[in-house]
Amino acid sequence: MTIQVLGIDPRSRSKNKLQAPAPLPHVSRRALARVRDRIEPPKSCHCCGGPVRLSDNSVIYNGRSYGDWPFVYRCTQCQAYIGLHPDTDLPLGLMADRATTNARKHSKAPFQRLLVSRFGGDRSRAYAWLAEVLGISRSICHFGMFTKEQAERAGEICRLELGGLV
Ligand SMILES: [Zn+2]
Repeated sequence: MTIQVLGIDPRSRSKNKLQAPAPLPHVSRRALARVRDRIEPPKSCHCCGGPVRLSDNSVIYNGRSYGDWPFVYRCTQCQAYIGLHPDTDLPLGLMADRATTNARKHSKAPFQRLLVSRFGGDRSRAYAWLAEVLGISRSICHFGMFTKEQAERAGEICRLELGGLV
């Protein structure tokens, strides 16, 4: 399956208030404008092609909602899921199983530390560096887009780089 990375959502320039798909309370035009590398909301599962439902993330976390924008696209067949960019209906990346999601979370922590210690909080420089060492295009260099292997490799690279600083 080829997933196309698109530019900023044209709805961000809409003159009218946007319709939010249930159960989202709203979709913010300003928040849409912040998402530079966008992929469309999934119509079918990125993993198995099964049906996707937009739900509260309490379906993932044992009945309790988690976070400020507690929604996910989730496959009703294989249970792969992905969170949403805050105040939008846009997925953070590719739907993934639990192991991939965990690998993404694990690798993001050392990246965040590196972002502060080496890049002075400059996200675009930090991501440009990571894309280069991973040998991938900048537009797909997001933790939400990583496969399990890419996430593990990103984590490894960041941890090595952090080790070199002390
Ligand atoms: Zn699926």
